[in-house]
Amino acid sequence: MQEVRVELKDFRKERRNIFDIPAAGSILRNINFLNGVRLFLLFLVIYAIVYGFINPTKENLFTTGLFWGLFWPFFMIITLPTVGRFFCTVCPHGFLVRFFTKIGLNKNLPVKLKNPLIGLFVLILVYWFVVYTFPSVYNNPLPTALLFLGFTILAITVSFVFRNGVYCKYFCPIGSICTSFNRVGFTWLSTNHEDCLKCKKPDCAIACPYKFNPSKFDSKNSMEECTLCMECANACSSVRWEIRKWGHSLYEKIPKPQSFEVWTYILIIGVITITMKFHHGLSRTGLSDSLPWTIIGKYLDSIFHFPKGVDIVGFVALLMGIGSALLFSAVGFYIASKILNTDYTNLFNNIGYAFAPIMIVGGLSHALSFFFFDYYPHFVNGISQAFFLNITVEPLASRSDPWLRVFTIFNYIAGFWSLYLVHKRMSLFGFNLHPKYKLAFLFVSALPIFYILLSVFQQYAFMAYPPTFHHHHHH
Ligand code: SF4
Ligand code: SF4
Repeated sequence: MQEVRVELKDFRKERRNIFDIPAAGSILRNINFLNGVRLFLLFLVIYAIVYGFINPTKENLFTTGLFWGLFWPFFMIITLPTVGRFFCTVCPHGFLVRFFTKIGLNKNLPVKLKNPLIGLFVLILVYWFVVYTFPSVYNNPLPTALLFLGFTILAITVSFVFRNGVYCKYFCPIGSICTSFNRVGFTWLSTNHEDCLKCKKPDCAIACPYKFNPSKFDSKNSMEECTLCMECANACSSVRWEIRKWGHSLYEKIPKPQSFEVWTYILIIGVITITMKFHHGLSRTGLSDSLPWTIIGKYLDSIFHFPKGVDIVGFVALLMGIGSALLFSAVGFYIASKILNTDYTNLFNNIGYAFAPIMIVGGLSHALSFFFFDYYPHFVNGISQAFFLNITVEPLASRSDPWLRVFTIFNYIAGFWSLYLVHKRMSLFGFNLHPKYKLAFLFVSALPIFYILLSVFQQYAFMAYPPTFHHHHHH
């Protein structure tokens, strides 16, 4: 009897291990099976690239549908806030990275290049800057194919030359996004710590192609740049992939906070979240002509006469989006550090993690509504075209359907979750006991507050000045 009670208690205390779920466990720990999935996705990627070169006209739905209708919205926006970095588990480039690292030259990467922000800047430059400034480029199959061909060649070259899967850590354009936003989901890679105490030769760490030690992820409260490739889980049965409280690592101290993670949140909120709201949200309402980026953009156009295809208004919106994210975060933290009489960098690195939910959870409102009128028909019709399936599906909704607006709820979930996290994280460091805490809280929270107000304003503008559906198409 006694024993049963103890077991029950332990079971309830223990966190659920995804590997213990029968089918999931045997699939995820089976590297051959995972490699099969990766090879299939690699085949799709190569096929879509080749297809893009052979059919460079807009008739080709497959190339753009695969990359912009499936990979980006689904693997990124839907899986990151739920199961975490699962995209990397099946990523075809990650497969190439590990393969070419194994057979390659194993050189050390120069220290200067060990910076995860490199990949992020590449993403902003070759993708987001282009999307806003030359909006039609990636609606075309050829530039899309070239972009992915470029990253495939880069992944292979970097991995062949350097050791330890550095492409995923520093160069992959979505790598630092995956690392930073990996904290938002409800899964966590961990180990049975009792087993690890007795362990002399950590098979998990030896097996890791990136030289991480998963038995340390809990004490570090960081999974570092783990790609969930599952090699460690295959090597040692004490490795666990746990279901935990949503975003649990954000509620605890992070012993070695990484400023690049916080910078990733801020830059991505500026480039994606805020600029999208400026340029693709508000610009579509009847207010369009009185928005600052439209006014400045049109003025610049009247001086420089940009060629057709250049959206200078979009470019100005991007600059203003990045500007507001920097202003509301850096200046907010600076003023708060003065109020609290504490070190600015310390405050920024430790509390900045509270911004994690904004882009990824808020992004759901965009991705889900686009699923109904754009991603789904685009992707299905594209696959049908590439594999001669003769299926045509219609969009599940029209862009102007009012019910699609229910998804805007995610903007508010993201914004208020972030405010709550600011409070929690400030309390971890005892700042809540400071006499001027409330004032400091407002300054630290300037970015989430701005984001919430912007969401409210956007909704108001949509109702009071309804959009006239015309030109914009975006991802
Ligand atoms: S870091 Fe990039 S290349 Fe590596 S597995 Fe993740 S998405 Fe793929
Ligand atoms: S810790 Fe495990 S899952 Fe993470 S990258 Fe290393 S081997 Fe892959």
